[in-house]
Amino acid sequence: MEFIFSHPSEAEDIGSPAIKRVGLFGSTGSIGKQTLEVIRANPTLFSATLLTAHSNHELLIEQALEFMPAVVVITQTSKYALVKEALASKGILVMAGEAALEEAAGMDCFDLMMAAIVGFAGLKPTLKAIETGKNIALANKETLVVAGDVVMSMAAANGVSIIPVDSEHSAIFQCLVGEGANPIEKIILTASGGPFIGRKPNYLVNVKREHAIAHPNWSMGAKISIDSSTLMNKGLEMIEAKWLFNLEPSQIEVVIHPQSIIHSMVQFKDNSIKAQMGLPDMKLPIQYAMAYPQRIQNSFPRFNFAKSATLSFDPPDFKTFRNLGLAISALNKGGNMPCILNAANELAVYGFLNNRLGFLDMTEVIEQTMANVAFIGQPSLEEYFESDGEARNFAASLINL
Ligand code: NAD
Ligand code: MG
Repeated sequence: MEFIFSHPSEAEDIGSPAIKRVGLFGSTGSIGKQTLEVIRANPTLFSATLLTAHSNHELLIEQALEFMPAVVVITQTSKYALVKEALASKGILVMAGEAALEEAAGMDCFDLMMAAIVGFAGLKPTLKAIETGKNIALANKETLVVAGDVVMSMAAANGVSIIPVDSEHSAIFQCLVGEGANPIEKIILTASGGPFIGRKPNYLVNVKREHAIAHPNWSMGAKISIDSSTLMNKGLEMIEAKWLFNLEPSQIEVVIHPQSIIHSMVQFKDNSIKAQMGLPDMKLPIQYAMAYPQRIQNSFPRFNFAKSATLSFDPPDFKTFRNLGLAISALNKGGNMPCILNAANELAVYGFLNNRLGFLDMTEVIEQTMANVAFIGQPSLEEYFESDGEARNFAASLINL
């Protein structure tokens, strides 16, 4: 059976107004700040008309005073008064709480959502934005891991494009431009291998938060940094790719490429392989997703073939980095299993970041949660939410949270 990925029309200029109004969900995070850098550098192309943050009210206020959005949302309600006091006199609507996030996602003050919240919390606002017809630049991979079938079918039903921001998926998306309905034989996701490449369990058993958080090639938020160090990030990305590009699990491969220059590859039916390359800098996939189908000029450092050392490729060490194998079994099993995997992983990472769990214990928590939460083959959206809750409760009981 052949699976055909349908690329959004290249003729279509996504978000037609001259200045694209960006609703930036998660503006205080790593992707959020880099998105604002891109907007700041391109004031004739983009404006930030909605900003949201969870708890960093100081940065949110600073960003709002610079970009003057129509709306800001702070999800931690205890910070509402501070944000309102700083911004209400500027004519900015200030909202607070989780429900406000969803309400804001339904507002018509933006054309394109930059989905840059981390974790399961990003799912509801993204669904609301899709339902109300906004195109999505998707950084929040957990949204597709948890409920990829619901998200993609809702996007299709609403004529909405999901443009990936994750660098690997952006690479694949770029490789598919101009390929029409040419079938994909397989995709090859590259992985840097993280800070513990080549290490074995006897070393990993003792690693701490500070070691795990220091990624060699990318500077990212805490959760994705830990996911990169365990290779769970690559597992989540395999599931993300399945939904974005309509692939069978057997069509998705992972290769370790420590230099992070090739961001991923597509192998077509005729055995031709296309790769997208460049220095590792998230601003590139961010601006590509925002400007698609245009490419816009920038002054980012350029890759220099004359100066660069070898590009190398190795298979992943599944024996040491067992999270990748768990993610692949969730991918193969389907149903609510990726949702259970994601919830358990979010709790495990939280436990590790707060020194409640050792590095290798994260894998145990995920494995046991996957074995104990009821499997549902074809879950509804409500059942995804229930499975997430159940998996969180189970994982929390293992960690004593
Ligand atoms: P981050 O931790 O730096 O930022 C997360 C943002 O989400 C912050 O603005 C925070 O206020 C907000 N947030 C956190 N919890 C929230 C909650 N419960 N409710 C509402 N808002 C909440 O994370 P990041 O590294 O920017 O990553 C964001 C997403 O992008 C993740 O899904 C990650 O996997 C994906 N991504 C990140 C990178 C990267 O280089 N950072 C690369 C590829 C994909
Ligand atoms: Mg990635």
